[in-house]
Amino acid sequence: MDNTVKYLYRLSDGNFVETVLMKYNYGYSICVSTQVGCKMGCKFCASAIAGFVRNLSPSEILMQIYETEKNSAVRVSGVVMMGIGEPLDNYENVLKFLSLVSDSRGNNFSLRHVSLSTCGIVPRIYDLASLKLGLTLSVSLHCADDSGRSEIMPVNKKYNIEKLIEACRFYINNTGRRVTFEYAVIDNVNSSDNDADKLAFLLKGINCHVNLIPVNKIRERNYRTAKAGVAEFAKRLGRRGINATVRRTLGSDIEAACGQLRRDAVEKSNLNGGADF
Ligand code: SF4
Repeated sequence: MDNTVKYLYRLSDGNFVETVLMKYNYGYSICVSTQVGCKMGCKFCASAIAGFVRNLSPSEILMQIYETEKNSAVRVSGVVMMGIGEPLDNYENVLKFLSLVSDSRGNNFSLRHVSLSTCGIVPRIYDLASLKLGLTLSVSLHCADDSGRSEIMPVNKKYNIEKLIEACRFYINNTGRRVTFEYAVIDNVNSSDNDADKLAFLLKGINCHVNLIPVNKIRERNYRTAKAGVAEFAKRLGRRGINATVRRTLGSDIEAACGQLRRDAVEKSNLNGGADF
């Protein structure tokens, strides 16, 4: 209903990945996958439930752009690495992809129009910062205290919030780019006034932007967006000097939540004995 198109690509080994094409006022943006499945185990994510299979090669990431542009007959002007997988867990291949997509013999993309989303693989944030590629770093934060974050994002047990924020400060200082923090406002998990206060306190003085996002519905979990609370949550952050926007939901009618289409395809494929469908 909003011109969002979701693609399910079958790779040469029979695995599936998802790609989403989104239309904005300024043009088209594409969300690409970087792995088949994901190891990170975020509780609110369908990709985690389906498990990890393998990394995508640089060309398999690039292919998602080429095939989608060909199929939809549009030219993409922005890339977000926010599909299936954790880009910084496939670091070398993602770097090769970035070099290919920005090559003048290819898409010739300015990396300023590329956004990389991570759940917080701290050592790789430092590595990326030292390369000064100019891309936007987007960090899935989703909770401002360690116990709550570890509950929904197991990666936090390895790299806690203090280490993550330290790495983000380094990224900002080293690259001159602000960081975006993604925060899904989830009912009864992270949406109270107290949560907003903790988030504002954590991000105070950091050159950043906060994206408040609705949580995607997935079958196995009971997470719901704190609907009434999102605008209030944003206002509360604003009053404490933190810039926050509520992200527009695209593709809500076509299950554009990351990982759902792949998981359904894998289930169907298994039912059919792995045959084509
Ligand atoms: S949200 Fe991202 S990092 Fe977390 S499990 Fe899903 S794909 Fe992996």
